[in-house]
Amino acid sequence: MPDVPSVLLNNGNSIPQFGFGVFLVKPEETVEATTHALDAGYRHIDTAQMYGNEAEVGEAIAKSGIDRSEVFVTSKLNNGFHRPDDARAAFDLSLEVMNLDYLDLFLIHWPLPTRYDGDFVSTWQTLEEFYREGRARNIGVSNFQINHLNRLAGECDITPAVNQIEVHPYLVQDELRSYCAERQIAVEAWSPIARGKITDDPTISEIAGRHNKTNAQVVLRWHIQRGDIVFPKSTKPERIKENIDIFDFELGPEDVEAISNLDRGERTGPDPDTFDLIPD
Ligand code: NDP
Repeated sequence: MPDVPSVLLNNGNSIPQFGFGVFLVKPEETVEATTHALDAGYRHIDTAQMYGNEAEVGEAIAKSGIDRSEVFVTSKLNNGFHRPDDARAAFDLSLEVMNLDYLDLFLIHWPLPTRYDGDFVSTWQTLEEFYREGRARNIGVSNFQINHLNRLAGECDITPAVNQIEVHPYLVQDELRSYCAERQIAVEAWSPIARGKITDDPTISEIAGRHNKTNAQVVLRWHIQRGDIVFPKSTKPERIKENIDIFDFELGPEDVEAISNLDRGERTGPDPDTFDLIPD
């Protein structure tokens, strides 16, 4: 089994630094894909209410026979449920459909600053309830910018344990990452391989060739060495194995720097300051 490091969170708990993401995994493919991941040694699964596959993630974990305490499970509050009563009902439903009595991590998926009168503070205070009840072992946010995090710091009791944001070689996010590091907010890097775009990058290919690894492995290793938490998605068993096979080599500082220098501020996903989608 791969030796996946842990990251210490600001509340004393820890999280596996590497896991499996299931965004855009169809519900009917989720049990199989998650089972492949668990078989390959993944012990951290990242889902969301919006992905429509929480139930299947729960099913795969139950079927695996792996002790619940050994798998770190994250889900996220969907955009239509930011009002406190809606958030409570949505969180209850996540636990119910996943057949779990707690989540390891629950996040506000998007800040939605242009919705709900810009009030993500009361939503965060509702997540604080889940944390105090022990039904969410850790709570955090996703797609929060510095100004959103500053508001939580000024108006709330608990600092988010993580901020899950888009990070990859074409969007290195160093300002937001530094802000989080100063406040002990762990960074989770979503779309870590830029949804596959890094596979034909010549700089990354050159580094990969020297290390006898694939481009995806080199980029995932780059994230690990920068200290971020990653959970690449794949439905292909061979890629699921490939992606976790990154704990037997190390990039030199010049390789890490060369990859960081590919930054071009390019998002693959929406801008958190304007994104306002409420899915059907
Ligand atoms: P990734 O960067 O993980 O890329 C996934 C894509 O790359 C898929 O098309 C996959 O195809 C392909 N791929 C996977 N492994 C390889 C490989 N070794 N070589 C070449 N191609 C590969 O993108 P995601 O957007 O899925 O991000 C990962 C996770 O982050 C999500 O699943 C989700 O959990 C989270 N996320 C969170 C968001 C948020 O707002 N909080 C937003 C987006 C993602 P295939 O399946 O065919 O292998």
